[in-house]
Amino acid sequence: MSALMACHGCDLLTQPPLPRRGAAYCPRCGTLLLRSKPNSIERSLALVLASMVLFAVAISFPFLSMKTGGFEQQTNLITGVRLLYLQGMNFLATVVLLTCILFPLLQMVGLLYVLLPFFLKRRVPRSVNMSYLSAEQSVLALFCLFFQQQ
Ligand SMILES: [Zn+2]
Repeated sequence: MSALMACHGCDLLTQPPLPRRGAAYCPRCGTLLLRSKPNSIERSLALVLASMVLFAVAISFPFLSMKTGGFEQQTNLITGVRLLYLQGMNFLATVVLLTCILFPLLQMVGLLYVLLPFFLKRRVPRSVNMSYLSAEQSVLALFCLFFQQQ
């Protein structure tokens, strides 16, 4: 038995069928209520793990090489942040560190934190409030909620 659900479009309380595959729409206004994708947890987890591998490659391999006068210098993201800091561009170093390294890493770790209990069929951590989970919200919002509850 599925729970009652309010339509976002017209506030109709309805008990939509839970399709194994496909979507359920509001009978009055046609707004999408539920969408079911098979193996969505497994696919999301595979994408997170692939993104972690690609992230490790992205931050460890050089992305910029400068050759001047026979001297060649290569830099990757981490050494680039360090060089920006050493050149006195602290604000830019902080922005690059946050946006290119820390926030993506936090997002991937947060996704693992949310997806692994579902995949392993264990209890979801209490810090994850399921009423806030939706496809539109990012994991950073989840972390904000997590730290807000602490
Ligand atoms: Zn509706």
